[in-house]
Amino acid sequence: MKDYIVRGIAAGGTIRAFAANTTETVACAAARHETYPVVTAALGRLLTAASMMGSMMKGEDDIITLTVKGDGPIGNITATADSKGNVKGFAGNPAVEIPRKGPGKLDVGSAVGAGTMTVVMDLGLSEPYNGLVELQTGEIGDDLAYYFTVSEQTPSAVGLGVMVETDWSVKHAGGFIVQLMPDVEEETIAKLEENMSQISSVTDMMESGMTPEDMLNALLGNLELEITDKEDVRFYCNCDKDRVSAALATIRKEDIQEMIDAGEDIEVKCFFCNTAYKFSVEELENLVEQ
Ligand SMILES: [Zn+2]
Repeated sequence: MKDYIVRGIAAGGTIRAFAANTTETVACAAARHETYPVVTAALGRLLTAASMMGSMMKGEDDIITLTVKGDGPIGNITATADSKGNVKGFAGNPAVEIPRKGPGKLDVGSAVGAGTMTVVMDLGLSEPYNGLVELQTGEIGDDLAYYFTVSEQTPSAVGLGVMVETDWSVKHAGGFIVQLMPDVEEETIAKLEENMSQISSVTDMMESGMTPEDMLNALLGNLELEITDKEDVRFYCNCDKDRVSAALATIRKEDIQEMIDAGEDIEVKCFFCNTAYKFSVEELENLVEQ
């Protein structure tokens, strides 16, 4: 089944909501970066969040980048999405092993640690929008809810989940974001809170066969939910050799010269998708000349 996001509104437009199934996307990220289970979960949650936030943007070339900088063993985690369902990302350290919180419960919070989450939205304006919050739990869903509430003044409920099998494959990945608009009524909030208290975790909902539409129905079904859009999501990186060589050109001339002097081809990997690009000594020499 293809990954997708659904968008909807409820309570006469005073609530907007997003839900996604990102299982294939997260499986692709895990395979490319060879992540251990807790990293698959952390990166997968951030990719899921980025893909839904990407679908909040309107412009063709709009880009959103989420970066979690924690002091835990994973290091930094970055996810970037556009408004068309393309998302990519990576974790500083893909090989993290950490005790589980309980049977089947990966301890994402401890693997991420304490630190900050930054959100950068490049909407084609001269200055990109920039928000930064302290991590609340490092579980990513809580941190994002806090970001929306504090930094964007939009009270939000966020659920993100990745279920990793014992063979390290991704069984389910997905999530939801529900946001209150300024003119929302108290009664609506009370109903939503009641609905929130009835639902189980994202992975439990997906395990029981629920689709993104079903998740929104569980959250907002009794609040005049109207599903307005559906969009495919995929792990996609737009790198090519030119982009990688442009990145290579930003490192110090002496360092490139050192590689040339070593007289061997080098391999440079894209951070986002781990694709390797080979550069010959001759290509490196051309780079230095430029
Ligand atoms: Zn790439």
